[in-house]
Amino acid sequence: GKAEIGLIGLGVMGSNLALNIAENGHKIAVFNRTTARVGTFFESAGALQPRIVPCTTLAELAEAIRPPRPIIIMVPAGKPVDEQIAMLRDVLSPGDIVIDGGNANFHDTVRRFSELGNSGLTFIGMGVSGGEEGARHGPSIMVGATPEAYARVEPILTAISAKFEGEPCVALLGPDGAGHFVKTIHNGIEYADMQMIAEIYGVMRDGLGMSPDEMAGVFAEWNKGRLNSYLIEIAATVLAAQDRQTGRPIVEVIIDRAGQKGTGKWSAIEAQTLGVSATAIEAAVSARILSSLKDERLAAEQAYGSGGLPKFEGRRDVVLRDLELALFAGKIAAYAQGFAVMAAASKEYHWNLPLPTIAKIWRAGCIIRSQFLGTLAEAFEAGGELANLLMAPAFIEMMKETHPSLRRIVARTAEAGLPMPALSSALSYFDLYRQGRGTSNLIQAQRDFFGAHGFERNDGKGAFHGPWTQSG
Ligand code: NDP
Repeated sequence: GKAEIGLIGLGVMGSNLALNIAENGHKIAVFNRTTARVGTFFESAGALQPRIVPCTTLAELAEAIRPPRPIIIMVPAGKPVDEQIAMLRDVLSPGDIVIDGGNANFHDTVRRFSELGNSGLTFIGMGVSGGEEGARHGPSIMVGATPEAYARVEPILTAISAKFEGEPCVALLGPDGAGHFVKTIHNGIEYADMQMIAEIYGVMRDGLGMSPDEMAGVFAEWNKGRLNSYLIEIAATVLAAQDRQTGRPIVEVIIDRAGQKGTGKWSAIEAQTLGVSATAIEAAVSARILSSLKDERLAAEQAYGSGGLPKFEGRRDVVLRDLELALFAGKIAAYAQGFAVMAAASKEYHWNLPLPTIAKIWRAGCIIRSQFLGTLAEAFEAGGELANLLMAPAFIEMMKETHPSLRRIVARTAEAGLPMPALSSALSYFDLYRQGRGTSNLIQAQRDFFGAHGFERNDGKGAFHGPWTQSG
């Protein structure tokens, strides 16, 4: 019989997704631009070969799939996706479903959705998280689609998705760009999570003088507690790993320059566009940018001397306990920000994003998977209209318990000259958020002084101006 679904782009993600689909009993037709890769992939499929149809042209691919044809495109985001869609159009028929499974910018997804709709084709924007391993054995899948198009692919997506205690980590989150937007914010939160973990690692390394092995032990221990998550688990794993060439801890030979492909930056941009404060995510993106300036940083260290002094005093176990709680408090603030961005986007674009469902499908399969997301889902389920995660009763309790640690760590690292961009931003966000009487009255006075922008009074309604005699 014919294949149920097709896939284009047998790279890291595409080849693993295809094997996952085949393994779950669905026949899949595959194509790759460099056609030699199709053969290599087919050979590697072993026992799954009977459920894979290798195709060397797009016409062959279309012919191999039962209409209406769902076809997943798994190529780099941006122009390659548009090129691939343009070529696909020639071989598809009305009703066929083009699925972009890459990390698309949701603005592109919205555009493609309407462009394809105009020619009778259906488009699905599908965010996939979990990296290579997730794609192969169960990713978290965030879908933006019409209910009709989703119904056509739902059985396959449910089969291949990660399961959290039996619940599939896939959901239709809204129309057109909703899935890719949520995937973008997932990655933004991932940036913040990773940056905060790296900052804590910096305190252990430069403030406490710990070895990678010792740190691996601490992260492994933390992974048994409230920080339990994939990123903490792999922090322990990579810290314990040795370089094959030198026998040294591998983290000691890796250059401290972080790469990025855009989703973190998009998260920060969308947050700003929507008027939502997402400082921990922004700080994480910024920190990656500064990390890339390795030569400049070395020169600046020559000019200024390095931070990291004086060393952290006191009992190591006490400091480590503070670091654990500080990381947890920072995590709460970062997730509060990410979810606030999604809540705002949901209103702005009329998506009706199901926030509890998003937290639930992130509990397994994706990079930020954690126990914490279960607690978060419960808070959104219980909370009716929750203005901010920080106002959920369970989170008020957790934040009250942990923010003093975050405060101590940020203060001590500031004195020691150890950078803490994401965690200190998270702390400032919390302190601003819970400050009933802020300082923006002074900003308003100055704005009125130089620009006659007017201000509101706390003792009467209306727009007022100050007693200034001159204006800028
Ligand atoms: P790879 O670089 O491993 O593979 C890219 C694939 O796209 C190859 O099959 C390549 O074909 C094809 N391709 C590249 N340019 C074009 C083009 N112009 N037209 C047609 N095909 C093209 O990428 P990944 O699998 O890592 O990533 C694919 C998508 O998945 C990206 O959007 C990425 O952001 C996203 N993603 C990646 C994750 C990861 O962990 N790697 C996790 C989640 C999402 P050829 O063999 O001919 O070069």
